[in-house]
Amino acid sequence: MAILVTGGAGYIGSHTVKYLQERDEEIVVVDNLKNGHREALDGVKLYPIDLRNQEVLDRVFKEHSISSVIHFAANSLVGESMEHPFEYYHNNLYGTMNLLKAMKENGTCKIVFSSTAAVYGEPEETPITENCGTDPTNPYGETKLAMEKMMKWFDQAYGIRYVSLRYFNAAGAHYTGLIGEAHDPETHLIPLILQVPSGKREKIFIFGDNYDTNDGTCIRDYIHVMDLASAHGKALDYLRKGNSSNIFNLGNGRGYSVMEVIEKARKVTEHPIPAEVEKRRAGDPAVLVASSEKAKKILDWEPRYEDLQMIIEDAWRWHRNHPKGY
Ligand code: UDP
Repeated sequence: MAILVTGGAGYIGSHTVKYLQERDEEIVVVDNLKNGHREALDGVKLYPIDLRNQEVLDRVFKEHSISSVIHFAANSLVGESMEHPFEYYHNNLYGTMNLLKAMKENGTCKIVFSSTAAVYGEPEETPITENCGTDPTNPYGETKLAMEKMMKWFDQAYGIRYVSLRYFNAAGAHYTGLIGEAHDPETHLIPLILQVPSGKREKIFIFGDNYDTNDGTCIRDYIHVMDLASAHGKALDYLRKGNSSNIFNLGNGRGYSVMEVIEKARKVTEHPIPAEVEKRRAGDPAVLVASSEKAKKILDWEPRYEDLQMIIEDAWRWHRNHPKGY
């Protein structure tokens, strides 16, 4: 019995695969390698295919005895989704439809889903709980919310149970420094900051310093990618025990401003990292901080990297050794 990991060659997917390998799980990966990296996987069967290819996907289900699915495969950039909504709807929704169809036809009834804090849009309250209203402000969040809803109805009709994990800001890398974050183009704050001491950029731009926060810069909740990986393992255990479908936030419950993140990175890298204030980036809420109490209580999940410094140290180990990515 194998676990199918879609998008398993991507950033969070590959760290989750590594975590599951350390747990001796049998794994099969499907990834179209558009954003994923073959090199991020070691000792695991990879099918370089797209979920929209129903025929080949069905063959993977037939060839392996797939007991459960962890579903990462999706386009996941906010800015890109505003420019290319068609591609986001087509890949994220059609891909998920095909996946759920293959699950239904092959009797696979457990799925852990990679969702996002972007489903909340402008938050009604802080910290954000799972009961907060959802109102995405971009096609990325909108498609992720639609994927969650699709799963809800497939559960009701066909008994496919799901756990949706709404991540806040994923960061860090595996402690070995062998795998890490490698996006092209890079848009996320921590890898962009680390490009300065890596010699790839001269300075970091701060997108706005006139928000209603202590130092005027945006506050986010950074969560270590291996803590996200362990949450997927816990979610799988939860479904294997026969529990019903559920939704959980995943964050550290503590926010750091952009300035604070830059300051920590200066400390970790011992580099001055020049910064310059730019205008605000469209669609950025001032503060996004998770309440993960529900995941802690029901999934028995506990983040191990609560300290931002540890997260940046792991990220730096990876970026210092792989300034060009994989
Ligand atoms: N940010 C920034 N400069 C950059 C990239 C990001 O000031 O070059 C800010 C961004 O406005 C946000 C925070 O850093 O407030 C985290 O952004 P990121 O894109 O990493 O994650 P998001 O919160 O958008 O998912």
